[in-house]
Amino acid sequence: MVKETQLQVEAIRNGSVIDHIPANIGIKILKLFKMHKTNERITIGLNLPSSALGAKDLIKIENVYLTKEQANQLALYAPKATVNQIEEYKVVNKLNLALPEHIESVFECPNSNCISHGEPVESKFKVQQKQDNVHLKCHYCEKVFSREIMTEAR
Ligand SMILES: [Zn+2]
Repeated sequence: MVKETQLQVEAIRNGSVIDHIPANIGIKILKLFKMHKTNERITIGLNLPSSALGAKDLIKIENVYLTKEQANQLALYAPKATVNQIEEYKVVNKLNLALPEHIESVFECPNSNCISHGEPVESKFKVQQKQDNVHLKCHYCEKVFSREIMTEAR
């Protein structure tokens, strides 16, 4: 009986499972993809035990499939996350996360003097990666920000 209940909560028929999200990032990712505004059923696990990460967050969304572009944005928050696409309870596809070269209209420039704030333009950043460090360079003010600054600002 316990197992059946668990299955109802844990398994989804169709949709996406985002796993191996670092703890405390799950909520940000929900907001990033505006998942909290959908009518689809969403299951969130926060601070789940993980052998690799210590603690992790996990998100399951029914009937929603992440685009490649969304998966790349996800990579900025959670480079080691995994995205599984589920159909009829089976994993039919695993998305590989890759950092995008550019990110547009997701983040606001942290530089309050940046021209992008006063203009009706979409924000635009070039993604620079050196080993494990990821930086974003604003297209407008050309200032460079760390991944952490960008993802904390939201
Ligand atoms: Zn800027």
